[in-house]
Amino acid sequence: NVRVGIVVTGTEVLSGRVADRNGRWMSEQLLEMGVDVAHITICGDRPADLTAELAFLRGVGVDLIITSGGLGPTADDVTVATVAEFTGRPLHSDPALREDIAQIIAGWQRARGFGDGTQLSPATLAGIDKQSLVPEGATSIPPTGTAPGVAIAAQHSEDAAMPAILILPGPPRELQQMWPAALATREVGEVLSRHDDIEQSTIRMYGLPEADLAATLRAAESDVDGFGDLEITTCLSRGEVEMVTRYSVRARPVYAELSAMIEKSHPRQVFSIDGSTIDDQLAELLRGHLVATAESCTGGLIAARLTERPGSSAYVAGGVVAYSNEVKIAALGVPAELIAEHGAVSEPVAAAMAQGALTRCGADVAVSTSGVAGPSGGTAQKPVGTVCFGVAVAGRDTYTRTLRFPGDRGDVRALATTAVLHMLER
Ligand code: ATP
Ligand code: MG
Repeated sequence: NVRVGIVVTGTEVLSGRVADRNGRWMSEQLLEMGVDVAHITICGDRPADLTAELAFLRGVGVDLIITSGGLGPTADDVTVATVAEFTGRPLHSDPALREDIAQIIAGWQRARGFGDGTQLSPATLAGIDKQSLVPEGATSIPPTGTAPGVAIAAQHSEDAAMPAILILPGPPRELQQMWPAALATREVGEVLSRHDDIEQSTIRMYGLPEADLAATLRAAESDVDGFGDLEITTCLSRGEVEMVTRYSVRARPVYAELSAMIEKSHPRQVFSIDGSTIDDQLAELLRGHLVATAESCTGGLIAARLTERPGSSAYVAGGVVAYSNEVKIAALGVPAELIAEHGAVSEPVAAAMAQGALTRCGADVAVSTSGVAGPSGGTAQKPVGTVCFGVAVAGRDTYTRTLRFPGDRGDVRALATTAVLHMLER
């Protein structure tokens, strides 16, 4: 199948000041198209390091290299010149492109009140000169910010193969806006059109130890004919197990058999076989109802998660972050005696919190958390990671539960949030 290598450039990404979004985003796009991503590498803004990455990816035999970043006007932006050198294509100035970039920059300067935009400074003009350089024989892709993209065709000669190279800007919004035009270039289209017909399906499970899934997959290896044609990866994310399978269209029946087997083996844990997330499912399920939250240790994470998607005002009433006992009492009406008797981290208090949110927010269903997220505050009976949950539904008994989560403070809070969403679903 067609394989792509991605090089993310930028010292700010390398040093962790900016978290990479481009590698992940492009990888998702390509995988969905049925193209395999073989590598994502990150390097700083030094030409020698970028050259080494390019040489490495050519060496492993990818069909297309995509770079992100380093297209700006400043001296640390070196991508186009480095790729030109690497592919042996001299740089030429493109007058039409130069004019386009000058127009964009003049427009920006006017919009920001930097003069009338008719007088560009010598430094700005030098930057524009630099950004309008295109390697010989390459196609430039119109800027979505100020920097144009570049597409260079693959070259195959007797002794050496040079993959196609696509150069994209670093700012994620610019890169994403340029993506359709980049795919539409002859150079990139030629490579990607050769991909196999690959499909990708996801099964999501909750409450299933990864080892149990592994055992089921081992059984499938002998029971499911053609199992070897499936490329399966499983990962744990926010307490859920996600199993992603890639297969060619021909192996669709094989996947169908595996999927049915997993559902049958773990009927209570499999909650999605169509790619939907728990968030998607709740949005569907809660339509026509109103949900409220009363959060202690999750500090608003549940409310944030429930309101993440547009349109959530149709089913989210609101909630209270009741971190202190005083707020649990004053804002949610939790009886002070209940806290004195059982402690704040207890099922009776979680139940009272959920009931308080239910009535005070005028909701149909309310959830609550009260726990010990750590790192301190744990006791022998309630160690760090202990979280009590309440689910109150109008006209029904309030459901409570206590779970203990592994990990650090961030893990406990994230896992508790996921757990509550699954309780809501049940
Ligand atoms: P510009 O013309 O804006 O200089 P550029 O192509 O030179 O574009 P960079 O200089 O590499 O882009 O990056 C500009 C900014 O875009 C970075 O400071 C960073 O905030 C953001 N950015 C770049 N690469 C990434 C990335 N991989 N993930 C997330 N943000 C990024
Ligand atoms: Mg830059």
